[in-house]
Amino acid sequence: MFTRILIANRGEIACRIIRTCRRLGIETVAVHSEADRHARHVAEATLAVPIGPASAAESYLRADRIVEAALATGAQAIHPGYGFLSEKLELIEACTEHGIVFIGPHRGAIAAMGSKIESKRLARAAGVACVPGYDGDDQSDATLSAEAARIGFPLLIKASAGGGGKGMRRVDEAAAFDALLTLARKEAMASFGDDGVLLEKYIARPRHLEVQLVGDRHGGLVHLFERECSVQRRFQKVIEEAPANHLPAEVAQQLYAAALAMGRAIGYDNAGTVEFVLDADAHDAPYFLEVNTRLQVEHPVTEMTTGLDLVEWQLRVAAGETLPLAQDAITRRGWAIECRLNAEDPEHDHRASLGALAGYAEPAGLPGVRVDSGLQAGSEVTPYYDAMLAKVIGFGNDRQQAITRALAGLATLRVEGLRTNAGLLAQVLRHPAFGDVLTTNFLPQHLPGGPVAEAGVLERHRLALAAAFAAQQPVTAPVWSALRGFRITAPAGGLATVPLRIADASALDAPAVPLTFTFDGSRCASPELPGVTAQAMADGSVRLTGANDATQAAHVTRVGDRWWTWLAGDARVWTVAHGLASTPRAGAASTAGRELRAALPGRVSELLAQAGDVLTAGQPVLTLEAMKLYHTLGAPRAGRLAALKVAAGEIVGQGQLLALFDDDTTDTTTKE
Ligand code: ADP
Repeated sequence: MFTRILIANRGEIACRIIRTCRRLGIETVAVHSEADRHARHVAEATLAVPIGPASAAESYLRADRIVEAALATGAQAIHPGYGFLSEKLELIEACTEHGIVFIGPHRGAIAAMGSKIESKRLARAAGVACVPGYDGDDQSDATLSAEAARIGFPLLIKASAGGGGKGMRRVDEAAAFDALLTLARKEAMASFGDDGVLLEKYIARPRHLEVQLVGDRHGGLVHLFERECSVQRRFQKVIEEAPANHLPAEVAQQLYAAALAMGRAIGYDNAGTVEFVLDADAHDAPYFLEVNTRLQVEHPVTEMTTGLDLVEWQLRVAAGETLPLAQDAITRRGWAIECRLNAEDPEHDHRASLGALAGYAEPAGLPGVRVDSGLQAGSEVTPYYDAMLAKVIGFGNDRQQAITRALAGLATLRVEGLRTNAGLLAQVLRHPAFGDVLTTNFLPQHLPGGPVAEAGVLERHRLALAAAFAAQQPVTAPVWSALRGFRITAPAGGLATVPLRIADASALDAPAVPLTFTFDGSRCASPELPGVTAQAMADGSVRLTGANDATQAAHVTRVGDRWWTWLAGDARVWTVAHGLASTPRAGAASTAGRELRAALPGRVSELLAQAGDVLTAGQPVLTLEAMKLYHTLGAPRAGRLAALKVAAGEIVGQGQLLALFDDDTTDTTTKE
């Protein structure tokens, strides 16, 4: 076995790998970008080596620097984690060249499975059914559109080199095909440097199931059962579980057999996953999708139900050992459900929520709750890397217990200073339809507008906020006279009134809610929530007390001019102003329609117009790459583009000014 390995990754997966290495007495070498200098994986590893600037292309994707770091520190093997270089040939080739073991399958498996086109051909040759479609070499527009017409609509265009839902577009009608093909190719080229695509019939009610495989270097190959990953958003997994609910036993056996056939066909020799899509309208008929030649994000649900450590297995087989267990010795029990907690705002189209973590605490001592994360207080979420913050896994004897425990984990994991999808995840777990057959239509069908506003939740957040706000005012004299700026209407009763205007700062133009709270020097009450009081505690939390003296802990943190509140997993951000009189926003009217601003944070990928151009309303100005998709932003009005405020390649924040248009459009539109 190795005595020191390097981990070519960051975040939760780097920390996850370190955990197993510590248990096995293996030393770890972390690598990190400049942005990750203070990251948790750096702190937890035995050694850490800087490998470049923040952008992944200059750090975590630099196989040369990573191998150099391994050589310099005497690491015998490199674990690639997932994403980054895990399925790229550069890293395994550089390892081989320098006599370092790559903790993953052999090169041929990665090369073949890195292409969806080639892997489908191999699957067919191995007798595994694939989704009907087109995966030919002829990539001309004419052939692709003729094939599209043959397959019929809706269909999916997929980037052959794709992954993580990138470069994938659903086409509902022939008329839209050409434009979406161009877009898919562009995304594929930009993300993978390869614009090859394949076409697949779109399955209307798809279930995503996958089988975990592990092979060794002596011909041993086993499966570790299935995972269900049907709850997805835009082709990306949101919640995963093992075992799959409502899976007919014969289909499960079919999946295991197909996965093993595929693994044998490519001589698979490490941990990998064979993905399938099942047609819920056709008795769950399974079709092969692809093989992921790495550890998956969702591997914990397999670990919890089989009691095995997949990272340990990866290390053992990479070191040349045979598989620790034979197929018939691998069993599973109970149920596990994993929720992917992302830094995003589900109420505003899931746009990224970037910034520093003002507070962070993982649940401690909750039975059956596992949290995999790479965070600590102060960690920064930047646009450079994935927005996944943590995985909350609930494990129990049965599905209901796994759900209950995952919910407890979500309500306890405290992330302050960023918006997250915790509320949405909890609503999925609680949804009555979560007990039915799951398909990838779950979210669009059952929670189309994001999480449903729950009665009283915002009011509780605002009350906690007011209590923290009032408590932060200097108290040197009787409370009402110390509260400078507060209007005092009932000094005789010992109550100060605290008039505030509170606005949801996650929306660009949310109206401020004027509210007059009362404050007795320690407890705050709100006209919105009769019978509930809030008290700021010495440890920085705020205790809400309601009927029957039931209490709930909230956390309030101020970061600059923003106030973050956290309550039962739900993190929100506010601006607060003294007094009830509202002042119009400066300049709002005069600039209306003249400005193009970024509705969400992202990277400017291409400028499509230049200063001086005369544009019609909606005519493209630039494309913004955000949330793994390209968005074309058009002119807010007809007129002359006076100035572009950003350059291609620039990272922009939400609300940032991108372009300015001239006020007067008459001379340009009437010129001819
Ligand atoms: P990626 O490698 O980008 O993750 P996949 O081929 O694995 O792409 O597909 C991702 C998801 O897209 C699947 O989990 C499934 O939900 C959906 N999907 C893929 N192929 C089809 C299809 N032919 N019909 C319907 N949905 C599909």
